[in-house]
Amino acid sequence: MKRTLASLEPAWVEGKRALVRVDFNVPLAGGAVADDTRIRAALPTIRWLRDRGARVVLLSHLGRPGGRPDPAQSLRPVASALEGHLGIPVAFLADPTSDEAVAATRRLPRGGVALAENTRFHAGEERDDPDLAARFARLGDFFVNDAFGSAHRAHASTAAVAALLKPAVSGFLMEQELAWLGRALEAPKRPFVAVMGGAKISGKIDLIESLLPKVDAILVGGAMACTFFRAQGLETGTSLVEPDRVALASALLDRAGPRLVLPSDAVVATALEPNITTQVVPSGRIPAGWAMYDVGPRTVLAFADRIAAAGTVLWNGPMGVFETPPFDQGTLGVAHAMAEATRGGAVTVVGGGDSAAALAAAGLEGAVSHVSTGGGASLEFLEGRDLPGVSALDDAPPS
Ligand code: ADP
Ligand code: MG
Repeated sequence: MKRTLASLEPAWVEGKRALVRVDFNVPLAGGAVADDTRIRAALPTIRWLRDRGARVVLLSHLGRPGGRPDPAQSLRPVASALEGHLGIPVAFLADPTSDEAVAATRRLPRGGVALAENTRFHAGEERDDPDLAARFARLGDFFVNDAFGSAHRAHASTAAVAALLKPAVSGFLMEQELAWLGRALEAPKRPFVAVMGGAKISGKIDLIESLLPKVDAILVGGAMACTFFRAQGLETGTSLVEPDRVALASALLDRAGPRLVLPSDAVVATALEPNITTQVVPSGRIPAGWAMYDVGPRTVLAFADRIAAAGTVLWNGPMGVFETPPFDQGTLGVAHAMAEATRGGAVTVVGGGDSAAALAAAGLEGAVSHVSTGGGASLEFLEGRDLPGVSALDDAPPS
């Protein structure tokens, strides 16, 4: 367990400068924030600090400017969006490594907020450079990491700075992520069911491997299922198969035995086009020239039954090409089953950007226990790997 923001004494926090690493890596369009989900996700931490009279200095990366300033990837539009949410002016630190930036943080009133320019404008950021981290550390009196989505990278603003600026604690978003994902992995209410999907098995092999010994069942959908079908010697038509992973899929099938559950039917078409003619076929019978773009209705029912009976469900990866209806039905079916299981008392966790988007599109974001905001970071956490941005934080005192 890591030391949390809430463990800090209010009297101690008062007047101090909190250097907070957030994940404001938001999409921009026409010089404005196109989706403010990540900004809203950081508000509880920012508000908690402001309410206690701290001066809040925010650090984030945006995009991939490659260690050089790039006006198109400036965080300035985020400062404006943040002003809208907080109803106060947000000071912008154009060069967070400058003496002027340090002076600006000292000028902040209690409850005041500043946002530093994109950390990746500096070459040292992605090298976890201690000198750059020391520059960042001058902007605060203690460190808070609320950027779970960046925690799998050892960067100056996530890892090195946490070694220099103490105490270094987790923010509320980070705490939530670690609590829900950690609980699913370490003490799952059983049966523990993982639902896996998405395009490629290659990106999720480590996840499947690390979950196999922990789960009671892994339900596999998405194009990933087709690589398993190929491993079983079944016909896959023009479906997306990763030929170089067939041997591995075969080994996983052997190891998993009946715990690995594949779709029993498939929705197939001759091309990926909206509202094209489709057929539902048993999984072993995908016709030549046709591709599986979604799991079939029998599979959805079978998966929904497993999900309904589970104590814990972890879902990562859509069941089909949900971006192109009618191939969204399998994914929607799983999303609704997740919501139903949650209402029945199950712990339900969704990880993966596309799965989260599908859930949100179905209006079910609030209907599951937890939706992880960190794509790559949640994947690595669930694979059982150490996240440098988390390891660098202070340990919670023994209770
Ligand atoms: P997540 O972001 O939730 O981890 P992934 O990125 O692994 O999910 O996979 C999402 C992608 O997989 C989607 O773009 C979806 O269209 C694609 N996909 C799912 N099923 C299929 C399929 N049967 N054929 C081709 N692509 C698929
Ligand atoms: Mg994805």
